[in-house]
Amino acid sequence: MLALAAHPLGLRLRCFDRSKEAPAKEVAELWTGEYTLEELRRFAQGLDGITYEFEALPVPILRALAEELKVPFAPPLVALERAQDRLLEKELFRDLGIPTPPFLPVGSLEELRAALEVLGTPAMLKTRTEGYDGKGQFMLKSPDDLPRAWGMLGGRPLILEGWVAFRRELSILAVRGLGEVAFYPLVENHHQGGILRISRAPAPQVSPSLQAAAEDYARRILEHLDYRGLLALELFETEAGLLANEMAPRVHNSGHWTIEGAETSQFENHLRAILGWPLGSTRPRGLSLMINLLGQEFPPQGLRVPGLHLHWYGKALRPGRKVGHLNLVAESEAELHQRLAQLRSGGWVEIPTQSTDHFA
Ligand code: AMP
Repeated sequence: MLALAAHPLGLRLRCFDRSKEAPAKEVAELWTGEYTLEELRRFAQGLDGITYEFEALPVPILRALAEELKVPFAPPLVALERAQDRLLEKELFRDLGIPTPPFLPVGSLEELRAALEVLGTPAMLKTRTEGYDGKGQFMLKSPDDLPRAWGMLGGRPLILEGWVAFRRELSILAVRGLGEVAFYPLVENHHQGGILRISRAPAPQVSPSLQAAAEDYARRILEHLDYRGLLALELFETEAGLLANEMAPRVHNSGHWTIEGAETSQFENHLRAILGWPLGSTRPRGLSLMINLLGQEFPPQGLRVPGLHLHWYGKALRPGRKVGHLNLVAESEAELHQRLAQLRSGGWVEIPTQSTDHFA
């Protein structure tokens, strides 16, 4: 999607992936290999800038590479380093005065027991690193769950978080270029089994003060890290306001709606920001729903629904794998509802009802 956004700007992407099957091969020059300094050095030759859109990367190697290069390397690796470790990430939020769920580090069974006394149950035990899409997590409903939780995750560096009875999950996409910052409207996200299923943008029922709080938190991170590029900040909306759950220093799944749903997509703005170009307008074009296609194809006849756009990644189908997404755009709430009903009645794609019922 970055390569597709790059093309009309006159930019050509060279992509690096460990897999020869990476979807980028269809639309960009694809290099494959391991993340060694030697290979990445060869890859970087002749490039005008480097970015990443995947977080499981070796920071020390990238840092060595970035230090050798004379071209922009963004987002800054300090952001990736923080995002890779849930404890460092939450400490960053706390240091910047951004509210988070209560949390404590856990290194042993004794520490887990003590942390559970402080935070109470239910509580979420998470691995500090390498967790994504709900993996590496255990919800403790009572202290009796302690041995099972430890049996599953013990031995790795962990973080225990107090349970947040949130109203809903939101995210904000923020982008910082050369001294310029822009924000997209808050997005409402619905997950299933830890995986993002549906995003609605702009999120309904967002007061100007809620949007302003989200922008303020994202801005603090961007400025503190001297950030370049797009950043996603995932938030819980609670009675007491917003709590920051995690950040992603990259273009983000909850920003895929911007391809048709905003004046400038997150992908284009990310590229513009890295190159120090002026940022594009983040204004939404009406209302959007983004529906992830998880291990399922979407038949072309479904595209008869007005305002519907298919983004197919060309990946092999596997159960639960994100293989594409649909963007549904409409001008009004009534129109969105009608188009969603049409999409649903066609039976082309499974859309969990609880995540869309209250939208319209
Ligand atoms: P994460 O990988 O941290 O984004 O967690 C995956 C999902 O688990 C989130 O999208 C929430 O739905 C849920 N979750 C994570 N942390 C908490 C928490 N402290 N309290 C309640 N739900 C949580």
